[in-house]
Amino acid sequence: MSRQRIVTGEALSTEEEVFHYTLRPKTLDEFIGHRPLVEKLRIALEAARQREEPIEHIIFYGPPGLGKTTLAYIAAHEMRAALVTASAPAITRPADLMGLLTNLETGGVLFLDEIHRLPVTVEEFLYPVMEEFKVDFLIDKGPFAKKIHIPLKPFTLIGATTRAGLLSAPLRARFGILHHLDFYPPEDLAQIIRRSAAILKIRLDPDAATLLSERARGTPRVANRLLRRVRDYAEVKGDGRVTPEVAEKALGLEGIDMAGLDELDRKFLRTILDTYRGGPVGIEAVAASLNEESDTLCELVEPFLLKSGLLSRTRNGRCLTEAAHHHLGQSPPPAAQPDLWTQGKSSG
Ligand code: ADP
Repeated sequence: MSRQRIVTGEALSTEEEVFHYTLRPKTLDEFIGHRPLVEKLRIALEAARQREEPIEHIIFYGPPGLGKTTLAYIAAHEMRAALVTASAPAITRPADLMGLLTNLETGGVLFLDEIHRLPVTVEEFLYPVMEEFKVDFLIDKGPFAKKIHIPLKPFTLIGATTRAGLLSAPLRARFGILHHLDFYPPEDLAQIIRRSAAILKIRLDPDAATLLSERARGTPRVANRLLRRVRDYAEVKGDGRVTPEVAEKALGLEGIDMAGLDELDRKFLRTILDTYRGGPVGIEAVAASLNEESDTLCELVEPFLLKSGLLSRTRNGRCLTEAAHHHLGQSPPPAAQPDLWTQGKSSG
């Protein structure tokens, strides 16, 4: 695991997971934001209940911490069935899936996180499972080989991935609903923060909720984590009430700036500025300069910088935007001068 970043959308520890679990919405009505997706799911769930069939298989893709697991729990809850979860890297052989599949009840949900990391053999084993709810097993070899069919109860597979581009075409084609979860706007995050504060009985000023929502990188998991840190600070340094001043100081202590960037984000931008004159530069070169894995940068650093308009991705590599120069306290380089000679020729 990479360094522990308070602004990461990934889970940091089991203890923290328990905390997030208590804040996890249990129904579609409690799920904040992403209205078009919620409506689409509501219809799919209602139709499935009427037909007494499971809902179609679903893929949720997008950065970590945006609610993919939460939606899988909600789908199972709304279908009044149990959820079975697993992480694809832990499934190395078809046999690893068997236990999970046979534990599923009718209408239940199998949630596979990081589904792009399934080995090809497991993926191919999944195809008939997803299409016909049956398992074909070959036992023995040569003349004694025998195919056995094990029927399964109809269920829904919900896959989550941060890298939809890495899904194979045949696997992707077997999902009825593919939905991209994008970063949340600050208004939705403020609502999530207020809801969490009410559950945790935190006295939170409305302006402090707004401030936190602007620094939470569009990610509910980060929003809840920041709220927790700020609550600790308020309890130790004040009377427990979270005011904007308290929130500002607590986040300052964590190295989180006005845009929600942390040390690693700023180092990433600074490296492009100082070492590569603002870009364009390839991600591998930046990763080498920072002594980081390029995958870590692609999955955990870049998406938010791109979303917040601080970074742009061009065919020649990554470039800092004007906003990034300002953010780093530098004036942006002058815009390229127009080519007067060519202009003169075309106008004359
Ligand atoms: P992912 O699976 O995409 O990494 P999770 O579903 O685990 O993200 O979400 C992380 C936490 O963020 C959840 O425990 C929940 O508390 C909170 N959360 C996510 N989405 C929402 C939402 N739309 N409304 C309220 N809370 C949310």
